[in-house]
Amino acid sequence: MNTNNTQIRKNVAELFRLVEQASKPDRCILCGKKDASICYSHIVPQFILKGIAEKGMVCYGQSLFDKTSDFIQTRKGVKNAFTFRLICRDCDKKQFSNYENPDAILNFETLPNDKKNSVLIEMALKTHLAHIYSKVKSLKFREAVYHEELQKIHNLGLPTAFETDIQEHFQYVNSLKKSRKSTSFTFDVFYNELLNYEVGIATQTIIAYQYDLNGNRLFDPKDFATTDLVKYFYLMILPHNGKTRVMFYIERKHQNFVKPIVEQFNALTQEEKLHFLFISLIVYDEQFYINPIL
Ligand SMILES: [Zn+2]
Repeated sequence: MNTNNTQIRKNVAELFRLVEQASKPDRCILCGKKDASICYSHIVPQFILKGIAEKGMVCYGQSLFDKTSDFIQTRKGVKNAFTFRLICRDCDKKQFSNYENPDAILNFETLPNDKKNSVLIEMALKTHLAHIYSKVKSLKFREAVYHEELQKIHNLGLPTAFETDIQEHFQYVNSLKKSRKSTSFTFDVFYNELLNYEVGIATQTIIAYQYDLNGNRLFDPKDFATTDLVKYFYLMILPHNGKTRVMFYIERKHQNFVKPIVEQFNALTQEEKLHFLFISLIVYDEQFYINPIL
């Protein structure tokens, strides 16, 4: 590595440190407590990450494709890997306790219905929090680098795409919080399998399909005129202890809007379904984590 690259790495690291500082909220975004200490929460639980780690290290999925990984750290120790910083220690401990244990992942089928619903809600909630954090960071990054350009957009009274996205994820967070109090099942689950082997990939993420399986457009992410909420599917790939839990689901109230893709997905064989989910992850998302050897 030459000195030029070393300096670029240092500058990038410093910029990221400043962006991270600016992204920390002044209150817990789940309980709203102002004086609570905001902690680093793991998106995917540590006991899952440990399973895909090599000598305690895991990689961001984007390192598979992205050349910027020469300058941005994409490999991390399990303890500090893929965290977000938006909620207080208390919420981090209590609000995800139904799903953050091996039993819920490996024996999901044996849980009573209300517990199943809680597990799915908690996983979904985590994905939106993680996306809020990544969008807030992207926004703060742009504010640091393109301050004047963003000011021009704000002067026109327009929100940036990031701000629109963040608001949308907050709507999901509020809706899921409400679902916790409801007695009816919140989701339609299209795929739920415990595979008999452990994969080297872990994710808890959301996917908004732009096209159905026949290539027909479902929505245009650049069309800001549409006020409809983007319809997100949840995709969980959680390897643990020689098995892998794979789940694919959506909030029941959105089902009508995504009918074509759901019908096409349901018509696939088990093997094709798994293949489709893996391709979806690669095409639509970068928030997944891999064994460094991959
Ligand atoms: Zn809190």
